[in-house]
Amino acid sequence: MEIQFLGTGAGQPSKSRNVSSLALKLLDEINEVWLFDCGEGTQNRILETSIRPRKVSKIFITHLHGDHIFGLPGFLSSRAFQANEEQTDLEIYGPVGIKSFVLTSLRVSGSRLPYQIHFHEFDEGSLGKIMETDKFTVYAEALDHTIFCVGYRIMQKDLEGTLDADKLKAAGVPFGPLFGQVKNGQDVTLEDGTKIIAADYISAPRPGKVITILGDTRKTNASVRLAVNADVLVHESTYGKGDEKIARKHGHSTNMQAAEVAREAGAKRLLLNHISARFLSKDVSQLRKDAATIFEKVHVVKDLEEVEI
Ligand SMILES: [Zn+2]
Repeated sequence: MEIQFLGTGAGQPSKSRNVSSLALKLLDEINEVWLFDCGEGTQNRILETSIRPRKVSKIFITHLHGDHIFGLPGFLSSRAFQANEEQTDLEIYGPVGIKSFVLTSLRVSGSRLPYQIHFHEFDEGSLGKIMETDKFTVYAEALDHTIFCVGYRIMQKDLEGTLDADKLKAAGVPFGPLFGQVKNGQDVTLEDGTKIIAADYISAPRPGKVITILGDTRKTNASVRLAVNADVLVHESTYGKGDEKIARKHGHSTNMQAAEVAREAGAKRLLLNHISARFLSKDVSQLRKDAATIFEKVHVVKDLEEVEI
C-alpha cells in the first residue's frame, strides 16, 4: 500500500503545492483507492498519476473548509466520463454538511452522475468507528480546528499467515486436498502415518498496518490517540518553529508540535503536509531539521510524491 500526495499546500494553491488531497492506494490489498480530502484541482493532479478515478471507491473529508472540498464537484463529474468503463458506486464520509454541498453543486450545475454516491455524515456525537470491512476498520475523532474537523485512523486487519508450500511438499504431502486442509489450519495424517501439524507450515499472522491521517488542527490529545503506534502519521505543519502562538490562533500546528504528537504516540514515521506557500525550499528543509530534533523519522512531503507503507 502507498500514500500518494496530490496536494500538500495550506489554504491556497501555489505553483508547487496544490491544496489538500491525498490518495491511499490499496490496489494490492483490495483493488481500491481512497481519497482523503479533495481540494480544488485534485482531478488535475490525479491526471499526473497512474490513479484511475473509477478505482476511487471512498472519499474521506476531514472538514468543510474550501481548500479541502472544492475539488469534489469536478472530480465526481469527471469520474462519470470514463467511457466504456464500468460505473461503480462511491462512498463519501465527512462532517454533516458535506452531502448538501455535493448535492447542491451537482444540482445547480445540472450534473447527473451515472453512479450512486452514498453519504456517511457525522458530527461530534457520532464519531468512533465509522467504517468496517473484512480487511479494514476506520475510526474518526474530533480534532481542534476553527470548525469541526476530524482525524482518521485506518487500521488494516491482521493478515493471515501464509502456507510454506515448499516445506509441505518436502514433508511428503502430495499436492491436492491435503494441502488445502493444512492451509486451513487442519492437522493431517499421511498414509504412512506421519502426522503433519498445520501450524508448523503456516507463518504467524502479520499485524496489519495503521495509518493516521489528520485534518487541520491545533496540538491536541485526540491526535495522539489517533496516532498510537501508527506505521505512518500524516500531520499538518502550517507553521514553523517559534510560531506556536499564531498557529494556535489560527487553529493549526507547527512542525514541532506535529513531531511531539508523533513522539508521544509512538508512531513509526511522520509525514508533514499542509505546508504554507510562505515557506521557500530552504525553509522546508529547515522545517524537517527542526522537527527531527524531536522526532527523527520525519519527512516533509511534496505534491505527487508517493510513499510506500
Ligand atoms: Zn481548515
